[in-house]
Amino acid sequence: LTRIFGSPREAAEWASERVRAGESVGLVPTMGALHEGHLQLVRESVRENDATCVSVFVNPLQFDQGKDFASYPRNLERDAELVESVACDVLFTGALTDFFPELDGDASRWDRIESIDPGPRARGLEGEHRSGHFEGVATIVRRLFELIRPTRAYFGEKDFQQTLVVTDLAESMGAPVIRVIPTFREASGLAFSSRNARLSEQQRELATSLSRGLFSARDAWRGGERRADQLVACIRAELESPGLDVEYVELRDPDRWEAGALSGEVDAARALIAVDVGAARLIDNLRLDDGADELRR
Ligand code: AMP
Repeated sequence: LTRIFGSPREAAEWASERVRAGESVGLVPTMGALHEGHLQLVRESVRENDATCVSVFVNPLQFDQGKDFASYPRNLERDAELVESVACDVLFTGALTDFFPELDGDASRWDRIESIDPGPRARGLEGEHRSGHFEGVATIVRRLFELIRPTRAYFGEKDFQQTLVVTDLAESMGAPVIRVIPTFREASGLAFSSRNARLSEQQRELATSLSRGLFSARDAWRGGERRADQLVACIRAELESPGLDVEYVELRDPDRWEAGALSGEVDAARALIAVDVGAARLIDNLRLDDGADELRR
């Protein structure tokens, strides 16, 4: 049975007991409205740790649009059922003022929260298009790490830049180990996302263009194409459709992230995109590779 805690303090007590008992603890931070993508992270944590906890918190600090925050899907009861189905030990949630006691119960006094510098890899892409986003992410994730002191923490490759930011954060804190889990997709290719709940049936169909574009660029890569502009054009070709509003399509070298968007001939690349589909802002990304990884598996 999954235990449900309504406050981070209870979760912190539970976790410290586990650690004192010599157990490893896995943490899966989420904003709830859980889906099969989240469950992949939870399953991996359950496999790798003695105890697993999932946090559900729609963190206002990482939203730059009040509307997106207010309308973000929430369903804690269903979340509890889902994590129980994969043998998660604890699910916890809480209010902003519970996570940040320095607010003294006043959720409007954000100025009292020390904002965390998300580091150089927060620049560009999501960091540029969603102002303050990664400061908000780093601030809550740091607090979660301080509260739970997990052995390992689990993040999805779907939010690729976020995995870079939290890896840098964990390194600066000396813990935990960050585990990055591959993007889980529907049969259509569409990456699972809580925001998909906002799509009409027609928009959901349209949203498959994101992964189609990425896969077509990867096919081109595998066919020998190495020109950045051509690879980007492959993706854009799939996104040229009424109803899709492209925010960015970029190729980056993950090892030299700070170099910015790639141009000319490239020798290693990840393609990253952000597209508005109706009321949903969707992101996706894919490593352009030759498939050697899959063959090795
Ligand atoms: P969120 O609730 O959207 O903040 O997501 C919580 C965690 O689940 C993040 O680390 C996400 O990257 C991860 N995640 C979300 N969607 C997927 C997916 N389709 N596949 C794998 N991980 C995901």
